[in-house]
Amino acid sequence: MHQQSHAAGPDATPSQASATAAHRTCRFCGAPLTTSVVDLGMSPLCESYVSQEQLNHMEPFYPLHIYVCESCYLVQLDEYVSPDHIFTEYAYFSSYADSWVQHAKKYVDLVTDRFGLNRSSFVVELASNDGYLLKHFLPKGVPVLGIEPAANVAKVAVDLGVPTLVKFFGVETAKGLAAEGRRADLIAGNNVLAQVPDVNDFVGGIRVLLKPEGVVTIEFPHLMRLIQENQFDTIYHEHFSYFSYITAEKIFEAHGMRLFDVEEIPTHGGSLRIYGCLRAAKHELTARARELKAREIAAGMMGPEYYRTFTRQVEETKWRLLEFLMEQRREGKRIVGYGAPGKGNTLLNYCGIRTDLVEFTVDRNVYKQGKFLPGTHIPILHPDAIREARPDFVLILPWNFKDEIMQQLAFIREWGGKFVVPIPRVTVFP
Ligand SMILES: [Zn+2]
Repeated sequence: MHQQSHAAGPDATPSQASATAAHRTCRFCGAPLTTSVVDLGMSPLCESYVSQEQLNHMEPFYPLHIYVCESCYLVQLDEYVSPDHIFTEYAYFSSYADSWVQHAKKYVDLVTDRFGLNRSSFVVELASNDGYLLKHFLPKGVPVLGIEPAANVAKVAVDLGVPTLVKFFGVETAKGLAAEGRRADLIAGNNVLAQVPDVNDFVGGIRVLLKPEGVVTIEFPHLMRLIQENQFDTIYHEHFSYFSYITAEKIFEAHGMRLFDVEEIPTHGGSLRIYGCLRAAKHELTARARELKAREIAAGMMGPEYYRTFTRQVEETKWRLLEFLMEQRREGKRIVGYGAPGKGNTLLNYCGIRTDLVEFTVDRNVYKQGKFLPGTHIPILHPDAIREARPDFVLILPWNFKDEIMQQLAFIREWGGKFVVPIPRVTVFP
């Protein structure tokens, strides 16, 4: 997944850098990419937590600048020269998040029922992680295969009884499976499409792997929600593309498929679950798919203006957050963070928030405790640190879980502590 082509070719010299930048092209349709959506400046890779020993080392920062293609309206990160290790150290275990496991189980029940999956079906999940989703098919007797590039994560799935192929997914992997007669009745891909550098190879592979009446479902954060609700902190280096329904449809159509249904689901601040099939398959286009497409067009997502106003919105959100934090600190109030998610790192780095404004943050993930946030070097402590520090405000960084977190930390009210949610705009919850 990290073998992307770099903007600067092998024979580019430093003096050609600006010429190369002017020739950036859309990663889907190849049209020139000239319209900026938002420039979040230089940012470190959001999963590169800093250890105590690394505190005095230099730290790499990369541009975090997204553009929209005026031909297909795919919103995308400008290609930057990435280190080869961007994904290899990524150790996210989906099963750590309770609500995510519940979400997966509900999905499995829904699709099994709707598409009549049984012992003679074949289900494939792309980026199957630790088997958090496919394991729910096992009691139903539905044969499954996970495809997961991270060997350590795949091993956890295999131990659970979920057969897993340790590979990146694309046309080549799909052809290998199809040649063995292993085409899928259902292909699932959750939160993987945005992270794929070569979207054409990925979607092309789906087409190769589908049976004639097979169905693919893909979940991704909805670009319309990102823009409407100022979720600029969900922009980070690992997310190459940001999709509307319309653009996703264009991409699937370019690969001999079509979309026939969509659900709007609450995960990650508002996601879409699209349903696709081969062009000639019998699945009928649903009313809700037509309705969402019409809503995106009515919002202006097929024109450049819609995207050009985002920068102003993002700046306003930053200024308000900084005003709030500075005002409280001037009055001597103590502010700490909750969580160390990737989105927190984009927010804190873009806003320039360091320990003068937010003393420390806490996280339940033991892997992160004792480390420091990339770029800002805000320490990450055990959640008990909040009870000891008795801060006036807790800034909730994973705002998509704010209800869950405010429940867990209800005890801060004992000393008059309040919660602050930064997105879509600074809001204080007493
Ligand atoms: Zn394009």
